[in-house]
Amino acid sequence: MKITLHNTLGRKLQEFKPLKPGVVGMYCCGPTVYHYAHIGNLRTYVNEDFLRRTLEYAGYEVNHVVNITDVGHLTSDSDQGDDKMEKGAAREGRTVWEIAEHYTQAFFQDWKRLNLVQPKAWPRATGYISQQIELVQILETKGFTYRTADGIYFDTEKFARYGDFAGIKLDDLRAGARVELGDKKSPTDFALWKFSPEGVQRAMEWESPWGIGFPGWHAECSAMSNSLIGPTLDIHCGGTDHIRIHHTNEIAQSECAHGQPFARYWVHNEFLKTESSGKMSKSSGEFLTLQVLVDRGFDALDYRYFCATAHYRKFLTFSWENIAASRDAHRAFRRRIAPLLSAWAGVRSGELDAASDLSAAQKDWQKRFEEALGQDVNIPKALGLAQSLAREEALSESERGRLLADWDRVLGLDLGRELPDPPPVEVSESERLDIERLFAARAAARAAKDWAEADRVRAELAELSVVVVDTPEGSSWKKI
Ligand code: AMP
Ligand code: ZN
Repeated sequence: MKITLHNTLGRKLQEFKPLKPGVVGMYCCGPTVYHYAHIGNLRTYVNEDFLRRTLEYAGYEVNHVVNITDVGHLTSDSDQGDDKMEKGAAREGRTVWEIAEHYTQAFFQDWKRLNLVQPKAWPRATGYISQQIELVQILETKGFTYRTADGIYFDTEKFARYGDFAGIKLDDLRAGARVELGDKKSPTDFALWKFSPEGVQRAMEWESPWGIGFPGWHAECSAMSNSLIGPTLDIHCGGTDHIRIHHTNEIAQSECAHGQPFARYWVHNEFLKTESSGKMSKSSGEFLTLQVLVDRGFDALDYRYFCATAHYRKFLTFSWENIAASRDAHRAFRRRIAPLLSAWAGVRSGELDAASDLSAAQKDWQKRFEEALGQDVNIPKALGLAQSLAREEALSESERGRLLADWDRVLGLDLGRELPDPPPVEVSESERLDIERLFAARAAARAAKDWAEADRVRAELAELSVVVVDTPEGSSWKKI
């Protein structure tokens, strides 16, 4: 099976060929465990799971590593600001270690509920401090670092290709820098090791050859991927937000330390957006967790299905209306295929011989499915094929069931499992009055062309799980 991937390195589609035949080293940047993952983060992990399953479906063994960032890094990419873990600890009156453990476990629970395949390793940054120190020492010995009053920095002037990966014009950036440079020589230089401030005992700090402190954010991925996969990765994944700084810095550190290409294919996932602010982030306030969806009557697999409806390189817009429509499609699909899967299960347990060869028609569908996966992991196309196959009466029920059961190895929808029906939608009389009041307020705002107010009221309705449908004939509301 031929797989073509879009490689951020060079910005083009390329046929995937691993370094060692049959084995893929795949590293994915994981969560910073100072808060719950939001469904935007989870979209990235679901897409990475589709990629991993595609590779396994094609027969590769995937050495998949996802790190847990449990060291307190600073809230700004320019190595300034508050420590994220300490902020989380202060918010909740717990220690940083308790915070890390709590949110790591919450993340593992989301992982399981979304039916994501377990990586081969879940390294925690705090478990790889000595490897990070070693990386900085190598860079220091090779002359890529300098020391300031607050830490050891990577000197990006020493790595001529620094801006190539993200297509950054460094001269413009460096000349026009308005950011606070501190003692840094260039705005693109970044911390490899930060010193604990004089007289302050940080909640997380370690001894190092340069004094007590903590590693810079980017060091962990270079150190852990090298320890667990090797100096050259086949595939490195993350969200598109990481291209410019985090991954650019990982490349600089790893390639200068090891003198080898760091990752051969870079696969970047596009963002989940919201309708209003356009960005789902931990700081924008539009912070939806998987649990919020579950509390509103969605199954985690409804969210997985929703992710499968958009290609990983395209934006996906979340709204309650979109996810509710996607849940309807998902449930209808499961209802349609349930008899096909049982027909296939019946054949399989009855006479094993029936499980041998695929018919010519089945082979044709199989080929189309593999082609869709091979085209830059086109999951929406693969899902569309599964939908069409379910309705294809030229194939017997068990023939269709057999293919669908097999394709679920990639779709990961756990299709054989019966999902509980979504809870019935009930609207109490007092709730109805509230909704009608807001609905009228929105109509009034629209009539007055006060779009900001209309959007605000619509968001308030969404809080009550109410979506507003506007058609040329007028508007109506629906509770989901
Ligand atoms: P973080 O915990 O912020 O490091 O993010 C974990 C992963 O989620 C990274 O790969 C990010 O690039 C990705 N990510 C962050 N926000 C979004 C979003 N709104 N949609 C999709 N992926 C995201
Ligand atoms: Zn990383």
